[in-house]
Amino acid sequence: MILGIETSCDETAAAVVVRDQSGRGTIRSNVVRSQLDEHAAFGGVVPELAARAHVEWLDHIIAQAVDEAGIALADVDAIAATAGPGLIGGVLVGLTTAKALAASLDKTLIAVNHLEGHALTARLTNGVQFPYLMLLVSGGHSQFVLVRGVGHYERWGGTIDDALGEAFDKVAKLLSLGHPGGPAVEQTAKSGDPRRFKFPRPLLREQRLDFSFSGLKTAVRLQAEALAPLTDQDVADIAASFQAAVTEIVATRSRQALARFRAELPDAAPQLVVAGGVAANRAIAEALKAATDEMGATLVVPPIALCTDNGAMVAWAGAERLALGADDRLDVAARPRWPLDTPDMRIAEDAT
Ligand code: ATP
Ligand code: MG
Ligand code: FE
Repeated sequence: MILGIETSCDETAAAVVVRDQSGRGTIRSNVVRSQLDEHAAFGGVVPELAARAHVEWLDHIIAQAVDEAGIALADVDAIAATAGPGLIGGVLVGLTTAKALAASLDKTLIAVNHLEGHALTARLTNGVQFPYLMLLVSGGHSQFVLVRGVGHYERWGGTIDDALGEAFDKVAKLLSLGHPGGPAVEQTAKSGDPRRFKFPRPLLREQRLDFSFSGLKTAVRLQAEALAPLTDQDVADIAASFQAAVTEIVATRSRQALARFRAELPDAAPQLVVAGGVAANRAIAEALKAATDEMGATLVVPPIALCTDNGAMVAWAGAERLALGADDRLDVAARPRWPLDTPDMRIAEDAT
């Protein structure tokens, strides 16, 4: 039984997760407090405000998670916390709290890479077996990662500029649709014509698994400026045309990535696992379903509440690491940057 703590961005979250002998996971509690209101007036996450809100709320959120799980804090086997990557002030709040709890209760500490939390969630929610391809599309990340095993990741490509969720947020901002932008753009796009504007699909013709969204965002801005003042129909058509462009980009890249999966892992069943808040987008999810069907692959989308930042994914990654013997020192460092595909993610050479 693991307590998981997540504070790397703008969610203060804690959860209790159990992993049984056969490797199946159960969520006993999962408490998330979003800081959307704190940051709303600024149109984005303000790191210093985020860190202060984590300080103010984390103890309560942990107490609530323990309470809802029907346990006492002393019942857990280990305390897992995000140690990076993320906003360093917030990460320090969560990791320091985890260290204090681990020291005072004499429990194992597990320092979790936030991206590993996203990467392993589908094993908790859908029992997915290794290996699989993960497409992480969130506010801060857009990347394809081959997940071979716990701690064993290969990054196959990613964005060279903006993340996909960030592109949604920026387009929403320039269309005055509010923050966070993804859900607003999706909603507005429903009444728009996706064929009215032919926005660029950067890098689409290249045979590499990278993304670039900043040129697309600029094209959207120039179009909006050319039409100003915008009618409601203009806004809807721009949103729909933007969404059509990113949907085609993501689906095309996913087909290419699955082709590489088939070529490099001919004996494995091809599986695509989606993670990150953009997975909530219906148009993108439907295009990914069509792409995986076409490639003879399985698509796995965990429940959306577990695709966005939460404590259960941190607890689960901690549990998977604990089962392989992980046991981090109390002086483990918080890391603002921490790519998944570094050798120090491995627990043991023979880890599978
Ligand atoms: P990270 O996990 O990379 O540190 P984050 O916390 O910002 O970043 P998430 O919480 O996983 O990421 O997802 C939030 C992002 O998902 C935002 O950019 C938001 O606009 C986007 N998003 C949410 N819902 C939708 C949607 N329906 N369509 C498109 N994008 C969406
Ligand atoms: Mg967030
Ligand atoms: Fe995240």
